[in-house]
Amino acid sequence: MAWSSFPFPLCVETKGLSAVHQRERLRHELAFRRLRVSETSQISAHLRRVRLVGDDLAGFTAPGPSDHVKLFLPDANGQIIAPLVADDGSLQRPEGTPTTRDYTPRAVDTDAAGVPVAIDIDFVLHEGGPATEWARRATPGDEIVVAGPRGSKLAPTAPGRVALVADPSAFPAFVRWVEALSQPTVIDAVIWNAAAADAEYFDESVRARLASLQWVSEASGDAGLLDAVRSLELAEGAFVWAAGEAQALIAVRRLLREQPQLDRADIDVSGYWKRGVIALDHHAPLDPSDPE
Ligand SMILES: Cc1cc2nc3c(=O)[nH]c(=O)nc-3n(C[C@H](O)[C@H](O)[C@H](O)COP(=O)(O)OP(=O)(O)OC[C@H]3O[C@@H](n4cnc5c(N)ncnc54)[C@H](O)[C@@H]3O)c2cc1C
Repeated sequence: MAWSSFPFPLCVETKGLSAVHQRERLRHELAFRRLRVSETSQISAHLRRVRLVGDDLAGFTAPGPSDHVKLFLPDANGQIIAPLVADDGSLQRPEGTPTTRDYTPRAVDTDAAGVPVAIDIDFVLHEGGPATEWARRATPGDEIVVAGPRGSKLAPTAPGRVALVADPSAFPAFVRWVEALSQPTVIDAVIWNAAAADAEYFDESVRARLASLQWVSEASGDAGLLDAVRSLELAEGAFVWAAGEAQALIAVRRLLREQPQLDRADIDVSGYWKRGVIALDHHAPLDPSDPE
């Protein structure tokens, strides 16, 4: 399986986001791709992989470790309400309210010529929502529309030490981060809110790259997560990425931002879902009391 590094994005901005690390940003052409399921597999107790294929994959690229796509799901009648980009480039919006959720493209499979032929999306099977239900029932031939990614933010170049903090919704991005960080970067990991049976999500090549792994049991809750983050070795120049349940991450973000040795631009914390909230808008500030 190879990560595609093409096509060239529409435009490239390189921002010196931080005094310590640089992260290149890429913009991609807006596309709504109608794809079909080719196979499904159970990766661990609560994570199900759905492989999507189709001619519309041409041009798909997602080089950033925490890139995301928007899935347009079928309604109860099997209809997918999703926009179309017309030949003249204009956006055509159909009537009705689409059902959408955000997911990480875990992998892009390419052919010998580098053309994308399949993407894998790994779904947490939680108590329920339209995306979870779709993934639970997905069978070969089922259709879905995939939009994006609109942009990519690449991993920082050559950080000395990185801490990755993830719950199961962020496992696909976590593994992509590990793959994106080459030696000699030292990686410390905190996994929280995950069942022990989901440990098999991480194969040996991922485990071998981790200098430390703290597995915070579900019973330890948000306090256990905070203790684990507090115990991380976060020297000057460290970079931290954290993603998962939004409420729990507010305290994590505050704790990290209190560390004088860390540059704020080197703290990347994203809420991927929120207890009791349907389709969390992850563009809204994680911590409304400290939105910047
Ligand atoms: C950038 C980004 C990338 C993401 N990547 C992934 C990914 O690769 N894989 C993945 O599984 N998720 C991922 N997510 C999270 C996913 O978008 C949400 O979990 C989404 O809400 C699931 O939709 P749903 O229809 O199943 O549930 P919803 O209809 O949105 O929610 C129904 C109920 O389920 C709860 N709920 C939602 N998600 C979870 C969860 N993970 N665990 C427990 N309860 C939950 C909600 O609080 C709500 O009460 C990502 C989110 C973002 C913002």
